Amino acid sequence: MSVLQKIAKESASGRNEVTSKKTHSDDLTELFGSNVFGDRAMQERLPEDIYRALKETIEKGKLLTLEVANVVANAMKDWAIEKGATHYTHWFQPLTGKTAEKHDSFITPTADGHIIMEFSGKQLIKGEPDASSFPSGGIRATFEARGYTAWDCTSPAFLKEDAAGNVTLTIPTAFCSYTSEALDKKTPLLRSMEAVSKQAIRVLRALGNTTAQRVTATVGAEQEYFLIDKKYYDQRIDLISAGRTLFGGPSPKGQELEDQYFGALKDRISAFMRDLDIELWKMGVLAKTKHNEVAPTQFEMAPIFSTTNVATDHNQLVMETMQKVALRHNLVCLLHEKPFAGVNGSGKHNNWSLATDDGQNLLEPGNTPYDNEQFLIFLAATLTAVDRHADKLRASAANTGNDLRLGANEAPPAIISVFMGDELSDILEALGKGKSGKGKGERFMALGVDSLPSLPMDNTDRNRTSPFAFTGNKFEFRMVASSASIAGPNTVLNTVAAEALDEIATRLEKAPDVNKEATAIVREAVNKHGRVIFNGNGYAADWVKEAKKRGLPNISNTVDALAAMANDNATKLFEKYKVLSGGELHSRYEVYLEQYTKHINIEAKASIDMVKKQYIPSVISYLGDLGRASQDAKSIGLTVTVQKDLAGKINKHLVAAYKKLAILETAREKANSFEHAKEKAEAFRDKVVPAMHGLRSDIDALEFLLPTTAWPVPSYAEMLFKL
Ligand code: ADP
Ligand code: MG
Repeated sequence: MSVLQKIAKESASGRNEVTSKKTHSDDLTELFGSNVFGDRAMQERLPEDIYRALKETIEKGKLLTLEVANVVANAMKDWAIEKGATHYTHWFQPLTGKTAEKHDSFITPTADGHIIMEFSGKQLIKGEPDASSFPSGGIRATFEARGYTAWDCTSPAFLKEDAAGNVTLTIPTAFCSYTSEALDKKTPLLRSMEAVSKQAIRVLRALGNTTAQRVTATVGAEQEYFLIDKKYYDQRIDLISAGRTLFGGPSPKGQELEDQYFGALKDRISAFMRDLDIELWKMGVLAKTKHNEVAPTQFEMAPIFSTTNVATDHNQLVMETMQKVALRHNLVCLLHEKPFAGVNGSGKHNNWSLATDDGQNLLEPGNTPYDNEQFLIFLAATLTAVDRHADKLRASAANTGNDLRLGANEAPPAIISVFMGDELSDILEALGKGKSGKGKGERFMALGVDSLPSLPMDNTDRNRTSPFAFTGNKFEFRMVASSASIAGPNTVLNTVAAEALDEIATRLEKAPDVNKEATAIVREAVNKHGRVIFNGNGYAADWVKEAKKRGLPNISNTVDALAAMANDNATKLFEKYKVLSGGELHSRYEVYLEQYTKHINIEAKASIDMVKKQYIPSVISYLGDLGRASQDAKSIGLTVTVQKDLAGKINKHLVAAYKKLAILETAREKANSFEHAKEKAEAFRDKVVPAMHGLRSDIDALEFLLPTTAWPVPSYAEMLFKL
């Protein structure tokens, strides 16, 4: 057993003394993907003809015959059993944004009362979980509880291990109703990948590319997260039930010294990160980068990009594994968008591009005139798509957590704008004016093209405040919620890109002079959609005014944002590209509104609980102590002006908090009395959220007035700095 495997075993079993566990690169190449039934395992274990048939299904979407499925299932089972598996599961992604799994063992009884381990092709390709308890937004009437899961063979099966030693063969699946409506987040994602591939190929053909057969949307999702000591987490009802602190005054030190970002990793954190890497590597997740983030006790993990589909599955594994591994280190991983007020929140940077099956990145500026024409066309398509459907992208990033983050002073604003960098912007602007847009100086490659400009060799400008930034050869959608699945944002991105590419393809296909038409397309895109380009500081108040002038939407909250996915415009778009039907869109709208309401309802209940059972009793009890202490002081002839002053201040906030508690309770009850999903969500947004904020201000003020020993829950200073 290699050193790394030993560590892996130890880590999986929950033991983790920080001894000298050195890892070696040879071990790592062996360990990586060791729990994945990927190409290597398939080649080793499948007969040649079966392997090729399966590859055709994976790469070209050819129908999988039951005969092939039977052989694959058997090989998969043998492989899994050799590695200790007893169960398999169809792993799917319901609208909760989490993943779901139901485990079945391989056991099958024999006539003589024994068992054998079996797994059939049918069991591999189709499962029938009881779907009645998953949100469906009315798609699947409850009397028709059945839904089914279908193997998504484009994402490899893998083994999940837990600390107790269980090993489960995990099969990524899509989850549909019997009438083929998508009940999950993966089905529309797969459909959107088809749509964008089809339209991108048309564009490439029209531009003269005859080799590419498929275009894949590629995604690398950087994941931000917080870690806190479990002993503090356990004492906070708000963290346990809502995933964020609902109360808490700022600690004396925040992030103002800027000493956390990229700071040296503490031993306890790097021990966690190493175990996280190992667990992810085993499952084939390309964990690459790890570092301290801006806020105290905030961190980031970035993988190497892969296809959208695999990246989405892997990001779910990343979130799940972070939480699991953290617990092994007596830490809790917080994925919430805004766990602590006053310091940075967490996001997910969704890096997105389009790649051909012959290895070209379509958003990479090239070094031939042809490549640049292609690049500018795909850039123009993205610009068009983002400007035209900014509202849908905004909706895809909406959740209760992001309502606290977007538009706050350290997060991208709720306005969708595109950062292009000065050099590229200059070129685009010149192109818009019908000039060739030649670059300045040596930083540009001279290409000698007439109609299309030279392009910068390396566009390394960075702008951390832009919600949608071009970063040299990809776009980075930074608004995405840290706790959410990336399926939604990428489904929208792929679909809006498909539409823009469709229009471009149609024009190019008809054009007598393709190059001229290409130039015209880029020029028109710049003139029509250039308003979405913004290279300045997205956090500045001026930008909000400027964006309004430009007519860019600024949607501040989830309830309003979600509407963009349920109107006629959305239905037309998503139906045209067969990504989501009107019914499926509407069901999602209902489900997400309901989720909004439920989350705020939980927050309100946790607030009420903490104030009633923890804060108010503690304050009253401290006032009692103060009263008794004052009596004592008086009895020895001292004045008690300080005690009186302090008691007065405390009492003022206590009285206010008590009143505001009643207001919150009433608001919550009233909001819950609404029948209609939208009215209910609006009542929670307009009445309950402000009532919670109001109550918080008095409780936070009280935290400053009371001694630490009298305060019933851990403070921000403890949670953020005692790690
Ligand atoms: P930075 O954001 O600092 O430029 P990187 O260039 O390493 O950092 O990229 C950050 C993330 O973007 C990584 O997850 C990386 O794999 C991903 N990424 C890089 N190229 C692409 C691409 N063509 N498509 C999608 N994601 C990509
Ligand atoms: Mg980045």
